Amino acid sequence: MGVSNSIRTTLGQFWEIIAQEFAKKQGYTVLPKDDFKKAKVLLKDAENIMQECIEKRRNGKKYELKKLSERLDTLYKDKPIDNNIETWESGNGVDLYFKKDKEIWIFDIKTVAINAKNGKTFDAQLIKWLVHQKHQLGDTMYAKDINVGYIFPYNSSANGDITSDSDWNDEYGQRAKPMTEDEIYAADKFWKFITGNENALRLILDGVKNATGDGSIVRRHLDKLMIKKEFAPEELNSIAEDAVKEFANYLFGIEFISKNGKDSIWSHGKNDERCEFKKSMNVICERKTGSSKRTGLEKYVRGFIKCPKCKEELKSNTLNGKRFL
Ligand SMILES: [Zn+2]
Repeated sequence: MGVSNSIRTTLGQFWEIIAQEFAKKQGYTVLPKDDFKKAKVLLKDAENIMQECIEKRRNGKKYELKKLSERLDTLYKDKPIDNNIETWESGNGVDLYFKKDKEIWIFDIKTVAINAKNGKTFDAQLIKWLVHQKHQLGDTMYAKDINVGYIFPYNSSANGDITSDSDWNDEYGQRAKPMTEDEIYAADKFWKFITGNENALRLILDGVKNATGDGSIVRRHLDKLMIKKEFAPEELNSIAEDAVKEFANYLFGIEFISKNGKDSIWSHGKNDERCEFKKSMNVICERKTGSSKRTGLEKYVRGFIKCPKCKEELKSNTLNGKRFL
């Protein structure tokens, strides 16, 4: 795994962290995303209903997920919970998995502009999430209460307002088909939903901008990524490394000094009391050890509490005793 993987884990997870933090504040139960599993074996009829839905929508026929849910609720009447589950294939899992008041939300976050092929793939995938989740829950929860969708955290097009859901749809709605507005949570639509605040995305973007000084980490690195569709691996690595450096500085208040093979040298502290330590970029952005059950900011902050050398607590100035945003 190269550092290029960290594009997802830094930029993608930046939005993921913010979303999870807001969800917690709004009283959602935020489940670790790895808890969202695939059923090992679907009911044959569920498999058929699922494929029919995917095919019809792919071929431009109207087939709302509401209708799919109704069919699933009929099929799974009197069916028990099925715990025969497995992990989704790489790339098919989700970023956000919330529960509240007997409803479930299942989302994946996409941080780059959607291309022409994505719509069909995404649509089929979210139909699978819905059917697989319903299968596991049997008749303990209605399919209609399982919400699935793709999040495009801001309007990445050069046209229109960066916070506008409708501007996103004007630019990319056609490519997102057969997904419908019901499954697309672009820009302010998602942030309004998760925060209950009409201006949430604007506040988030301003907050990040203020916290990081000259332009936001997220904006600048995403902008670089969106210039081209294809990147050479070295290019991706270099963009990702830049993002990791800034992200680490933002979250932990540490500064990148140099790279030495696999390890990077970081420093923290003030002027004459600076301390340097070694830590690979992958370790910083992929907090695997003991962190899989944590969600939101906690996953990062707790995963990296102390300087490995002087054992001093590492806290970013922007986080120290303050709100994240
Ligand atoms: Zn130290």
